[in-house]
Amino acid sequence: MCGLAGLDFAGPMRALALRGKLRQAAGMESPVSAALRGQIFDEVAARFLSSSIVSRQELLDFTVGGESMPLIDRSRGIRNPKPLEATLSVVSSADGPYADEEVSPGIWRYDFRAGGSGGDNRKLIAAHRLGVPVLLFRKLQPNVYQIVYPARVAHVNEAESHVLISLEELSGFSPGEASVVERGYAEYLAKRRVHQPAFRAMVMRAYDTQCTVCRFKHGELLDAAHITADSSHSGDATVTNGMAMCKIHHAAYDANFLGVSPDYEIRINARLLDEVDGPMLRHGLQEMHGVKITLPARRAEQPDRERLAERFEVFTRG
Ligand SMILES: [Zn+2]
Repeated sequence: MCGLAGLDFAGPMRALALRGKLRQAAGMESPVSAALRGQIFDEVAARFLSSSIVSRQELLDFTVGGESMPLIDRSRGIRNPKPLEATLSVVSSADGPYADEEVSPGIWRYDFRAGGSGGDNRKLIAAHRLGVPVLLFRKLQPNVYQIVYPARVAHVNEAESHVLISLEELSGFSPGEASVVERGYAEYLAKRRVHQPAFRAMVMRAYDTQCTVCRFKHGELLDAAHITADSSHSGDATVTNGMAMCKIHHAAYDANFLGVSPDYEIRINARLLDEVDGPMLRHGLQEMHGVKITLPARRAEQPDRERLAERFEVFTRG
């Protein structure tokens, strides 16, 4: 968990919100455009959580009031529906042709489209000028997107042909002038709103929502357990550093009652093996000793053996 969770962020939150308001808004979106944007956001809120994982098809098939309203463009990383005066959504993709990246926790760089044709860049700049909310889609895998909203076009850099898209709460945040506490708040927010939900969703998806130890299948009682602590704020997509575990097995893993070897074999702490107690100890833990974990079907999503080895060493020392 994030070690910053206990800090009081009320001060920086207010300061950033105020700065965001001051920077914003030299103009107003027209009533027609604003009404449609509002309708789209309402529908998005009704259908998805603010940090859900969605498929490309769901985004293309999206409808508002019975009318087709794709949330992403079929071929471009920006969506500018004709009736909207300013951009509706952008896609941030680590493997795309543009240098999109998270430049600071909760803030992504989005490059202007080459040539600047078709008004795409103009509408992106308009989103900043009008201070309207936009949708950000993070492409985590082919066909797998994380929806992040509300977001804002927080900064336009025409000289270097890019904009910065931020979580709405960080629209007044400027990495260069932020205080230490504001940075801490930005990091906390990015973890909570973006990276932790993405990590969980990707791990649940890889493990088909079942405990890798006991195959328990109820998502409400499953966690995405980290193999080694990941300090980088963008560690979310690292499915290979995660395993889906039920609450009991996650807690047992974290307390080193249960280990997973680099050969994917479950071991139970020696002292625990000798204990005599009720059915949870016997069936839930002791009988798991020597059993292989259930692996994700896709090889690329299976746990990283080096990370497992590092962690297993801590278990065996215990
Ligand atoms: Zn379990």
